[in-house]
Amino acid sequence: MAIDLRSVRNYFGRLLADRTEEEIEQALTPSREDISPHVPRGDAMSQISPEAVDQRWELLDVEARSRESLLDAMTREQMGVYSKNIENFIGTVKLPIGLAGPLRVRGLYAQGDYYAPLATTEAALVASYTRGAQAITLAGGCTTAMFWEGVTRAPVFAFDTLIDVGKFLLWAGGHEETFRNIAASTTRHGELIRTRFNLEGNHVYLIFEYSTGDAAGQNMVTIATEAICRFILEHTPVRPAYWFVEANLSGDKKASHLSFQNVRGRKATAEVTLEHDILKGHLKSSARRMLDFYRVSSIGGVMSGNIGIQGHYSNGMAALYIACGQDAACVAESAVGVTRFEPAGDGGLYAAVTLPNVIVGTVGGGTGLPSQNACLEMMNLAGPGKAAAFAEVCAALVLAGELSIIAALSAGHFTHAHQSLARGPAGGTDAGAR
Ligand code: NAP
Repeated sequence: MAIDLRSVRNYFGRLLADRTEEEIEQALTPSREDISPHVPRGDAMSQISPEAVDQRWELLDVEARSRESLLDAMTREQMGVYSKNIENFIGTVKLPIGLAGPLRVRGLYAQGDYYAPLATTEAALVASYTRGAQAITLAGGCTTAMFWEGVTRAPVFAFDTLIDVGKFLLWAGGHEETFRNIAASTTRHGELIRTRFNLEGNHVYLIFEYSTGDAAGQNMVTIATEAICRFILEHTPVRPAYWFVEANLSGDKKASHLSFQNVRGRKATAEVTLEHDILKGHLKSSARRMLDFYRVSSIGGVMSGNIGIQGHYSNGMAALYIACGQDAACVAESAVGVTRFEPAGDGGLYAAVTLPNVIVGTVGGGTGLPSQNACLEMMNLAGPGKAAAFAEVCAALVLAGELSIIAALSAGHFTHAHQSLARGPAGGTDAGAR
């Protein structure tokens, strides 16, 4: 990023308005004086205990009501449930949850009218997804398909020479079945389904791809990969100079160019055809306006260097992930995909979304926590056997969001919806998000 000199001058002008250069230099210089105490951890078994939590709060110079808002009676009572989900626990943040729906899904795995719980503090988001969901439902629902799955871990082995690399690959090529068996010994539901390698000089990146049952699977694949790597180190005919269990070639928690080459989590797609009457009556727009907007915003996205073509997958996905105990950071990779709009019939619109990296679980991670589990339960998506359906619901929700935002922007209603819902009187009844 290049900054013009005038902006630099203005920036320093503002900085130096009420501080001297010496004061700024002193503020920016590292100092080891008066280091604040560590956050008390408690012993390993009681990281979450009332005593340890109280000690942590004593570190903080805050009003009693701040403490009470994070450490309310219910949080105090059930704090033990968080023991495998957080370190240095001090309480819970409360987020409002809104229901978006009904969202009719006609899927390979998901079937029915869903009310999606969305946790957000962004006004207009739930209203907008609800509007899109209702449009889809009026059209008889969206067709969805989850059609491939896999989660990768990519360890690296650094050898001294390319000759060593060759010897290693020759050996590794004969041990794929062994790697599969080692992985199987670490998990009942995970399975090593594919092993690939990538080469850079004398470094070998192994890419282990697993199915992970109904878990999102990042811990599962890490544990299995570590076991395989330990076997490799013990038995390989050429020792690497060094190795790491993950070398950033898995796409973990990042949108990357791997996004469209691989599946990460589950690949899911959703499509719907909306007739003119639904576009006009419910979405307050038209196929022509929406296609015009779709075209210019796709080109804008290309010029911006976006990965994929889409409006705002992250809005619905982040809100759904947080409500349902998913790892919210995975929205970075999950909210990637392609939205496509086409004209259909007499003033109608075909819309499809394809998401190659929906990394969700209905067991493990945060899915067993009380309120998160309740959110999965309300969609009948909690527990074993539900992850594929959950991925399809994610795709359907994202489709609803794309339809609604593109309708709003194409009809010139986007600003009004945010202005009235976010800035209107508190508790106002203007639910007309467009
Ligand atoms: P997990 O809670 O660590 O593991 C899932 C557990 O559920 C396993 O013990 C598994 O047993 C069990 N399970 C029971 N029924 C299952 C079923 N039907 N399908 C699948 N598993 C079943 O969760 P995870 O999904 O592996 O990892 C997700 C968590 O990892 C997230 O919270 C995420 O934040 C975190 N994470 C970890 C890393 C990392 O590198 N460690 C990176 C990013 C995120 P079996 O294994 O015996 O089948």
